Amino acid sequence: MLISHGKRLLLDAGQTWKGKLRTLAPDWIAITHAHPDHAFALEEGTDVPVYVSEESRALLARFPVRRFRVFDDGDELRLGPFRVRPYDVVHSIRAPAVGFRVTADRTTVVYNPDIISIIDEDRVLTGVDVFIGDGASLTRPIVRRRGTALFGHTTVRAQLNWCKRHQIHRAYIVHCGKQLVTMKPAELQRRVDELAGSTIRAIVARDGLDVEL
Ligand SMILES: [Zn+2]
Ligand SMILES: [Zn+2]
Repeated sequence: MLISHGKRLLLDAGQTWKGKLRTLAPDWIAITHAHPDHAFALEEGTDVPVYVSEESRALLARFPVRRFRVFDDGDELRLGPFRVRPYDVVHSIRAPAVGFRVTADRTTVVYNPDIISIIDEDRVLTGVDVFIGDGASLTRPIVRRRGTALFGHTTVRAQLNWCKRHQIHRAYIVHCGKQLVTMKPAELQRRVDELAGSTIRAIVARDGLDVEL
């Protein structure tokens, strides 16, 4: 998704965007994890700085990216008008994922397109205005286990409960899985409204999302 505030910050660059990066013209790109639907637009190559974790850089090293910038969990990146904090989340064993907490002026957004849980939930979700979350499933978790490690996706319901717990009043559901994309839009929005309750305005975003801060 693209966050703009004078400058343009692209969060994730999935394979369906391959060939479009130049037109999109972001000033920076930050990648949550090295799965194809989050990072493989980089195959087209770019001169724009691309912020990644160490693990993602290793997995994406074959792509012609001129400027990888490696971050750690808890770093604060200052990118023009944006302050960006990557934080560790549980999602994948082979392609470890982060979320991003992005602040511009007085607005703070968290971006979690693929997620089971946030490792340090209180630190990350306190003081957030907008939650952007994983639409893989409404109410049935898609979680698997290998040894003690979990991978997969939590539910929209669980994420809206995190929002309630942390007084976050606005949520966008992105990256919708099969269950959500096959539902009628009106029915889907009704189910999401029900889960969101009266304190959260939750919106399902089907294709990409541009947020202007
Ligand atoms: Zn993923
Ligand atoms: Zn994904």
